Amino acid sequence: MSGATKLPPQAHFIDGKFTPAASGATFDAVNPYTETVTTQVARGDAADVANAVAAAKAAFDDGAWSRAPASFRRKVLFKAADLIEARSAEIIRLQTLEMGGPVGPAHPGPHPIMSRSAWNLRFFAEEQEQAGDHAFNRDDSLLTYTMSDAAGVFGLITPWNAPIMLSTWKMAPCLAYGNSAVHKPSELSPLSIKILCEIFAEAGMPDGVYNVVQGLGKEAGVALVEHKDVIGVSFTGSPGTARDIAARAAPQLKRTSFELGGKSANIIFADADLAKAIPGAAMGIFMNSGQACVAGSRILVQRSIYDAFLEGFAKAASMWKAGDPSDHGTRLGPLVSKGQYDRVTGYLDLARQEGRILFGGGRPAGLDTGYFVEPTAIVDVSPDARVCQEEIFGPVATILPFDDADDALRIANNSSFGLAGYVWTRSQDTAHYMSHRMQTGMIWINSGFDRDLRQPFGGMKNSGVGREGGNLSREFFTTTRFASFPLTPRK
Ligand code: NAD
Repeated sequence: MSGATKLPPQAHFIDGKFTPAASGATFDAVNPYTETVTTQVARGDAADVANAVAAAKAAFDDGAWSRAPASFRRKVLFKAADLIEARSAEIIRLQTLEMGGPVGPAHPGPHPIMSRSAWNLRFFAEEQEQAGDHAFNRDDSLLTYTMSDAAGVFGLITPWNAPIMLSTWKMAPCLAYGNSAVHKPSELSPLSIKILCEIFAEAGMPDGVYNVVQGLGKEAGVALVEHKDVIGVSFTGSPGTARDIAARAAPQLKRTSFELGGKSANIIFADADLAKAIPGAAMGIFMNSGQACVAGSRILVQRSIYDAFLEGFAKAASMWKAGDPSDHGTRLGPLVSKGQYDRVTGYLDLARQEGRILFGGGRPAGLDTGYFVEPTAIVDVSPDARVCQEEIFGPVATILPFDDADDALRIANNSSFGLAGYVWTRSQDTAHYMSHRMQTGMIWINSGFDRDLRQPFGGMKNSGVGREGGNLSREFFTTTRFASFPLTPRK
């Protein structure tokens, strides 16, 4: 990847057209591997949001999408899914330029993350076609039925850590059920979304149904949340931002859905298959340089295998080769931004006071440019320490010993978060005991990250409010009503 990579300026996408900011203002997109500016991006404000919401509302009221047969929306979304796979390499290249995620091993066909993004579209395109509402015959004198209809214009606000996968996870149900959307991608990942806009247009989605306003959270994000014609906000990001959105949405009683951060426990019992658990735990915290909401950032290991685990984990961590994220051999890319680099290295300084750094804690050897942090393990630390309680969002694990299942539960549940939990054991009884008692929205046994989109995704406590997936997205993105009318009973 060349430091000189320069892209054309990035615009909003409003009413089917790429449009600069009304004010003419821009901000820089920075490549986190080269630390150079790749382009300027439209810096949206309330005026741009107003234009986008007006386009979205006009498209909704027009009915060409919101009242179209479900089969038409299915056709468009399936075409868009095919195009995502066809343009997979282009999208991944832009994602790597914007947020530094490694392209991963070479493989035939579409990139797996793009196949998952396409799957998001296909899943909800089918769900909306197959979902049925109820009709009830109370008796011969009354028929009632429920209707779940498209609800209006939604604001979709997304983070940078998996830009297209997380965006499609929201836009798919929002659009499939017939709504219009104004999407504000993260200012740290403003590049790849352009291709999605082109894809929806090519797939035949009417203008104005899907709009993008680029910009900063405090400007474009706030304006979108506060706009009176936005009936709900689906947000993925940090708990602090969710609180701000909730407070701004409250006066208008808007519906909100929050998918937030985590500090997930990865619990390894002495009877686990360590040949799988050790690389699994490494993948859980080093994948995407730890910038994953479901990262297994608190590793808990049963005391009798603690030392053996540490030795194996250090070896596994050494396989996470850092480097140019556009090289197929690179496993560990840079963090997304200078701000994130300063935040993570600040936690490493804290770790030196609160505990001990077993390995890592600095920059990978030979990489003087780019926002890189080595795979890092912190030990000899209290479960109450800040590094064990706060989301670091870097390739940094704390590793603590535990005595038995109840001890592991005490440590795991001692958290203000409750997104994911991981348990490694050969005992089904232990697995069930743990999954029943762990205070998290999702639990993976002897595995991680596998998904069936019919399952509800989301967290407890500060990890979220609401669930996405299956028919739960349908509840959020539709308005459910009933109609009732009397019948004349036959004599
Ligand atoms: P963030 O909260 O800083 O930003 C997320 C989005 O919100 C961005 O588009 C940002 O511009 C916008 N925003 C910021 N302030 C706003 C405001 N006041 N009003 C409206 N919009 C505003 O989060 P981030 O740093 O981009 O993402 C990392 C966080 O996201 C982590 O906490 C991570 O765990 C979480 N996350 C959660 C999930 C999940 O599904 N649970 C998935 C990925 C990431």
